[in-house]
Amino acid sequence: MSELNPEFIYFDLDDTLLDHKKAEQAGLADVHQHFDVFKNIERQQLIDTYHHINKGLWEEYGRGEIDRHILHRRRFEETFVELGIDATLYEEAGKVYMNYYRNHWEWVDGAKVAFDAIAEKYPVGIITNGFAETQWLKIDQFGFKETARQIVISEEVGVMKPHPKIFDHSTELIGIERDQILYVGDSLTSDVKGGKAAGWQVAWFSKHPSKEGEELADLVFDEFDTLLNALSV
Ligand SMILES: [Mg+2]
Repeated sequence: MSELNPEFIYFDLDDTLLDHKKAEQAGLADVHQHFDVFKNIERQQLIDTYHHINKGLWEEYGRGEIDRHILHRRRFEETFVELGIDATLYEEAGKVYMNYYRNHWEWVDGAKVAFDAIAEKYPVGIITNGFAETQWLKIDQFGFKETARQIVISEEVGVMKPHPKIFDHSTELIGIERDQILYVGDSLTSDVKGGKAAGWQVAWFSKHPSKEGEELADLVFDEFDTLLNALSV
């Protein structure tokens, strides 16, 4: 068992503490139900097409090639075009989706109990890639303002993880030595590689860890009890 000894712990939000993937799937299933135009299209086909297009757009956004308004518009517009559906519905679909998506937000299994217990023993913060408007809604709804000493959102910093600037900014905010900061996250690229490049300790939340990630991370866990043990909580 790897021993972690941080003075401060930052957490990733989506798919580490909150189950974004599940909410996204459920939100898209609701969109599929909501519009008649999907009658002859399988739900999974909508989900797969949207994922494929959304992923490409996030990469463009990450490179600074498009802004969030364009991403929000194009992800449904292009999905509808690819599925051969009346693309004029895209704007309404985007709004309908966000409402449904919000209704499905919930904690990852075991994350709430673990986060609360850790926050009693360690100072904690959040670093998340995402849109400020959406992420602040999540932070309000789940009461993170009461526990998190710092909340860092990529859109407000101007770059996304794994860009060093977001880790440097987060380091400066707390004024603690880099090797005394632990980052807990689920993404190999954004969280593990970004955190290690910043000189931080990293705990990687992964059900199917790759060898590369296992070698990089200070701890790999797929249940929050493992993290609690490593932190002696
Ligand atoms: Mg994540």
